[in-house]
Amino acid sequence: MAADDQLAKVCKLLVECGNAVALTGAGISVESDIPAFRGSQGLWEKYDPMEYASIGGFVRGPEKCWQMLSELLVICEKALPNAAHYGLAKLESMGLLRSVITQNVDCLHQAAGSLLVVEYHGNMKELVCISCWKSYLSNERWKNDGIAPRCDCGEILKPNIVMFGEPIPWLARECAEEEARSCAVLLVIGTSAQVAPACDIPRIADESGAVIVEINPETTWLTETVTDIYIPGMASDVLRKVLEMLN
Ligand code: NAD
Ligand code: ZN
Repeated sequence: MAADDQLAKVCKLLVECGNAVALTGAGISVESDIPAFRGSQGLWEKYDPMEYASIGGFVRGPEKCWQMLSELLVICEKALPNAAHYGLAKLESMGLLRSVITQNVDCLHQAAGSLLVVEYHGNMKELVCISCWKSYLSNERWKNDGIAPRCDCGEILKPNIVMFGEPIPWLARECAEEEARSCAVLLVIGTSAQVAPACDIPRIADESGAVIVEINPETTWLTETVTDIYIPGMASDVLRKVLEMLN
């Protein structure tokens, strides 16, 4: 667990600037039992994300991809926010956090009560047709019966997530970059920062003068480059401690 003086420094910064933004990755949802990509995690040992989570793989074999997508939907449907998601929502309600930019597709920030969430990689709760662009709620069309859900036009639907090889939705990218450029503190939580262009967000904030606080049990390439304060630890432990200190 991080030294208390480092955490105290982070709390002081949050209070003094009142202008923090969080960037979250798969690591923040690990304690909600959603496996991250990197590390020894069940789902991704079975399914290579570059094949099963790429648009090329989806177009080549949507039925095959739906085996993995169905497992992910079941996991996301069951998952509940953890103390880290609730902690960020609390910081927002206290006026200490402006927004959350998340790479996650599990909607757990909104479930925890965060109001301003930029979904950089979309979400699993909607399905979209890659032929006619009609969209549906996942639970309207997907039945977990081993059959890939289809659009009214007959095409197999794709979750409204950004797969490898797809561009970031224009508005999400604009909002995320604007948030990064204008915040005074960026909390980078649970991301290995290996997926582009999300991995540019800490650099954009750093170049605009923000203090970069990284919360992750393991160091990443950010730690030695743009990170100003590295807090080693699980996201839920760290956020719980931050809130205790602020109260
Ligand atoms: P990643 O899997 O590449 O890295 C996860 C990071 O989280 C690692 O650095 C790891 O050390 C850290 N971590 C693990 N447990 C943690 C904890 N308890 N607290 C804090 N940090 C912890 O994740 P990424 O950088 O987000 O990139 C993966 C991509 O896959 C993202 O684009 C994301 O959209 C997608 N993805 C999303 C989910 C989800 O929605 N929950 C799950 C898997 C993958
Ligand atoms: Zn269609």
